[in-house]
Amino acid sequence: MESGGALAGLHRNPTFHHLLRPPRTAVNNLLSSSSSTYKRHFSPLPLKFQKQSHFASYSYNCSINDGSAFQVAYSASSATQSLANIDWDNLGFGVMPTDYMYSMKCSQDGNFSKGELQRFGNIELSPASGILNYGQGLFEGLKAYKRHDGNILLFRPEENALRMKMGAERICMPSPSVEQFVEAVKATVLANERWIPPPGKGSLYIRPLLMGSGAILGVAPAPEYTFLIYVSPVGNYFKEGMAPINLVIETEMHRATPGGTGGVKTIGNYAAVLKAQSAAKAKGYSDVLYLDSVNKRYLEEVSSCNVFIVKGNLIATPAIKGTILPGITRKSIIDVALSQGFQVEERQVSVDELLDADEVFCTGTAVVVSPVGSITHLGKRVSYGSDGVGRVSKQLYSTLTSLQMGLATDNMNWTVVLK
Ligand SMILES: *Cc1c(COP(=O)(O)O)cnc(C)c1O
Repeated sequence: MESGGALAGLHRNPTFHHLLRPPRTAVNNLLSSSSSTYKRHFSPLPLKFQKQSHFASYSYNCSINDGSAFQVAYSASSATQSLANIDWDNLGFGVMPTDYMYSMKCSQDGNFSKGELQRFGNIELSPASGILNYGQGLFEGLKAYKRHDGNILLFRPEENALRMKMGAERICMPSPSVEQFVEAVKATVLANERWIPPPGKGSLYIRPLLMGSGAILGVAPAPEYTFLIYVSPVGNYFKEGMAPINLVIETEMHRATPGGTGGVKTIGNYAAVLKAQSAAKAKGYSDVLYLDSVNKRYLEEVSSCNVFIVKGNLIATPAIKGTILPGITRKSIIDVALSQGFQVEERQVSVDELLDADEVFCTGTAVVVSPVGSITHLGKRVSYGSDGVGRVSKQLYSTLTSLQMGLATDNMNWTVVLK
């Protein structure tokens, strides 16, 4: 593990330690809907967050709830950037508290004011907030990778910003502009740089949230909104080669219906899949594959991944038509496959076609590409390939992850270099 950076020295400094591990009271009132309470308990930090040179050099102006202010500055070359003291070889996909989160509130005029980084911690919400009572909330998910040269890469963050905008429109929320979203993601990643896994060990998962944080009793859009970003280091999904998943087709419950909200990342869509997913897991399956709710014959997607089938040189995936989440990995895989000479079709894909495919795989930010080893439909199990990891799935996974990690030239212009 790398060490010896300026940050490591500061780590032993009690002042800096205080900054990283704030007392509970300092973070308890971050999202209070009353701005006076907000100011009384907590002055957000850093009021200034600057990258000053080619070498990482930051200065944080901080003021804590007792009114005292101090500044913490450190600089470290990318080669000596200190890492958080955790077991980087055994990262899973779980929440790990990091140093900072980002918060931005929507003013009365429907515009988001300037956001700020705050120490990571619990938030406070009115019991009558729109998100708690009526599910007025959206989430996003993307990753930052650290490259060997110290650069940090984001993958198509403006696509997440646009998708959040679409989702916000569907559930009557104002949303940050694409620029505000991307700038906020960058600031949050840079502030938590020591939590980005070293190259090859994983990535920093970035979770933006948009929620109706204001209090509302009757069913109506909330009077106030909060955009929040937190991050957590996660491991590479496939540590020792790709492991195929086993899916079961759900024939009773549906994830989405025409005219509903299946096409946006609204929080309610995920509570709705827990029952079928839990039942599937109890029977030893990895997850559930949903069918369309009208014909009960065409594929939709998995709980939080899109699905593809491969037959010879043809790759097919269900078309986006309101009930399927438009995955950014899905969209990227389509373009990568086309560039590699595959024929790609977005259309209805029937269960019969699925069961007759050469290969099946799923896509999503967390897994990138996940090969499907078997599908069970009405008690009948169909297995794919010899070990379930198809050649096409493997090839597409390798091409896209190389691009995301900065190991291959990005001819698509998809990656955003942060630093
Ligand atoms: C997030 C999500 C996906 C994958 O989207 P990506 O942008 O590729 O991460 C697919 N399906 C559902 C239901 C999702 O929530």
